[in-house]
Amino acid sequence: MNILNSQTNETTNNFDPNIYDFIDGQKLELNSIEGFRKYSPRDGSLLYTLHPGETKRVDMAVANAKEAFDDGRWSNLPVRERARILNRLADLIEVKFDHFAYLESLDAGKPITAALTDDLPTTLSELRYYAHGADNIFSKHHFTDHRKISYEHRRPLGVVGAIIGWNFPLLLAITKIGPALAMGNTLVLKPSALTSLSACRVAELAIEAGVPPGVLNVVHGSGAVVGSTLSHHRDIKLLTFTGSSVIGREIMVAAGNSNMKRVLLECGGKSPNIVFNDCPEDLNAVADEVIISAFRNQGQVCIAGSRLLLQEGIKARLLPIFLERLAALRPGDPLDPNTRFGPVVSHEQLRKVMNYIDYGKRQGAKLIHGGNRVQLELDGFYVEPTVFDDVALDHAIAQEEIFGPVLSVFSFRDEQEALKIANSTPYGLAASVWTQNLGRAQRMAHGIEAGFIEIRATTAPHDDDAPFSVEGHKQSGFGKEGGMEGLLSYSAVSTVDIRI
Ligand code: NAD
Repeated sequence: MNILNSQTNETTNNFDPNIYDFIDGQKLELNSIEGFRKYSPRDGSLLYTLHPGETKRVDMAVANAKEAFDDGRWSNLPVRERARILNRLADLIEVKFDHFAYLESLDAGKPITAALTDDLPTTLSELRYYAHGADNIFSKHHFTDHRKISYEHRRPLGVVGAIIGWNFPLLLAITKIGPALAMGNTLVLKPSALTSLSACRVAELAIEAGVPPGVLNVVHGSGAVVGSTLSHHRDIKLLTFTGSSVIGREIMVAAGNSNMKRVLLECGGKSPNIVFNDCPEDLNAVADEVIISAFRNQGQVCIAGSRLLLQEGIKARLLPIFLERLAALRPGDPLDPNTRFGPVVSHEQLRKVMNYIDYGKRQGAKLIHGGNRVQLELDGFYVEPTVFDDVALDHAIAQEEIFGPVLSVFSFRDEQEALKIANSTPYGLAASVWTQNLGRAQRMAHGIEAGFIEIRATTAPHDDDAPFSVEGHKQSGFGKEGGMEGLLSYSAVSTVDIRI
């Protein structure tokens, strides 16, 4: 059966469920009849079974990555040569653009159209950005005066361990591979057990692109075995993590209890989307943006605007428009190119989302849209976009990251109250503020505790610029990732001071 249209040329018939570790340029088979069973988000069928992983596999990968770092086969290459190879990797991924989009859709349940128009283009532009960015860093950091020469000697750290989540499997892998390799490190990457299809295929392509064996290694398995071994490993110099705050805390403890490795923690969020009465006049457009912010990727986005704060004057006008437009967003088969909203990633995630919906009702919030598991005949993990109004600050759905399609709506009178609500959770990842008042925009930007604050004075479309650095606040983590400063995170600096 051909499920996709000619846009992708993919069929479910040519799906290859093979998962393999990739160590020292070699594929090591992993599929096993025992272990973690991965079910398709779209129809609940068994996609693959995954071995939980073994400590000795991790040790083997780290030992190979260490040898590859120590003998300089990668770190001693001119930075431009590394950039050329990473750009070639981007080209090879691009050749298989449709195939990777298909794998992302199948594995994570994201709509194929989103994978084709969002995940894959962003993945490619990030990788190319990092390849060129490193060149700029290494060639710029020196300065002199007439009596002395001081300069910063920037060097790679060594073996980097990367542990990632499942919401953007390929993109998250590339946001670790790109900066780690561009700066001359070697890497051991652990994908989420829920989305194992793309990373090992990228590692294989890296060899074809010219990355030497041992530089990019992938080890699959559980967090308890593979993740924990990596975060405790004494030969890993930096552990970069994208996942929940709960596990982020464990990574910090592991780093402290082992070799005091550096950590970069990109963790959870509960981001406010704050709409003032003086927001842009086109409320249809504002409503559409709020929908994208809350429900893109079924709400499984770290920076999702999962709390909507509406000023009292605008609420009665905006909310009905928002709900009317949201009604068009209905869960459907992610492999259908017309689908804009797919299933959540797993049965466990579905259960978690339904539990939060239940809490919301029991704690007294008012369900005003959705709330049901749907498409039962498809047997997948489909839940409606769900909206609660009258949410109180102490409700679970006001405080905890659901990481699913559940939006909590609050009302506020003035800036002060908006700030109080915005800053009331343990998280500080992102925020959006809709206002055309410059002073208010500035006050809110400085008052909100978040790493990324977007001011929306217009609904006009804008181009996404080159990636910039973002650092979580509070329990959303710390350490810069993305952009030029993100590249710096994957290196250490020695200041050399020469008196002459
Ligand atoms: P998770 O924390 O459950 O798992 C993330 C990774 O950690 C997985 O690979 C998992 O196997 C591994 N892991 C689990 N236990 C471990 C342990 N004891 N030691 C080491 N590793 C372990 O998160 P998830 O459910 O996969 O992803 C969702 C979370 O990721 C959300 O909280 C979301 O906000 C966050 N996220 C954050 C960003 C960001 O940029 N801040 C981006 C994407 C996702």
